[in-house]
Amino acid sequence: MTAAFIDYYEVLGVKSNASKEEIKTAYRKAARKHHPDLHTKNEKAAAEEKFKKINEAYEVLSDDEKREKYDRFGENWRTAQQAQTYSDREGREDNTWSRSDADGFSDFFESIFGNARGSGGFKGSFNQQRNIRGQNLESEIKLTIEEAYHGGQKELQFSLKGRCPICSGTGTVHQNICQNCGGTGLKTNTKALNVKIPSGIRDGSKLRLRGQGGEGIGGGERGDLVLIVKVVPSSIFKLEGNIIKTIAQIRPEQAVFGGRISVPTLDGEVMVTVPPMSHSGQKLRLRSKGWPKKDGTRGDQYVEIHIDIPHTLTQPEQELYQKLLDQRKEVP
Ligand SMILES: [Zn+2]
Repeated sequence: MTAAFIDYYEVLGVKSNASKEEIKTAYRKAARKHHPDLHTKNEKAAAEEKFKKINEAYEVLSDDEKREKYDRFGENWRTAQQAQTYSDREGREDNTWSRSDADGFSDFFESIFGNARGSGGFKGSFNQQRNIRGQNLESEIKLTIEEAYHGGQKELQFSLKGRCPICSGTGTVHQNICQNCGGTGLKTNTKALNVKIPSGIRDGSKLRLRGQGGEGIGGGERGDLVLIVKVVPSSIFKLEGNIIKTIAQIRPEQAVFGGRISVPTLDGEVMVTVPPMSHSGQKLRLRSKGWPKKDGTRGDQYVEIHIDIPHTLTQPEQELYQKLLDQRKEVP
């Protein structure tokens, strides 16, 4: 059996996250356009073929349960197809022709949902032996620059949609709608995972947690959970490429006379010399205090000087500033 993968979203011309309403609208439009009755002899056969696919796509995408299975199945369709071929060989030899062509559904459809559709057949076929691996799930993980630099263990909370444990994903319990999942067969579970973060991990890197993804079908192993790292600035550090940027607040007299100040780096505080007559916005470069590069060296850190004017002055300070002001007045 050659069940070619059919992208039902593409058939209806909708995005994979399309709402039910969008799917319905797209279906109506497509069905009207390709209705065989509206086409003349030459085009009729092609229209019929297209119309068949449109209906098939709608049958799957308009049904929450089927859509979920199709989505879950999507990237594993080859594996599933092999399982199908195997089961064909085992038990369906004398049954090959029982699938009626008038049924109008493609081999691909049957390879996912089985052929006794409408009578719960596809549920049955799913619960059989097909060892379909669960889907890989993706999630974003936000790390501050410090967390990404140092790495280590981090406990993270995830919300994962999984099969409802009460009804085993069927949506019904003793022919009643399952109360636990409202009949959807799916349940969102929160789980905490301890994730090991390698030190110096870069923005956009992926961490793969094996076996923490979508549930497998018919005894298939679970998919993976793929975490995409997003490195976010902290209150102290900003990261641009391999450059770390920080700000140092200094007092006006430090700016004038220069001096030693303590500056935070990813490796802790270091003492840095501010040259005399430093201006606000001027940058000091700290070599190799930036982000680790692939070649093992490190980028630099830039410390931007901000002159912090005091909010209050002591009496002697006030007198000194007054003197300074008087002095400026005397200069022509
Ligand atoms: Zn349930």
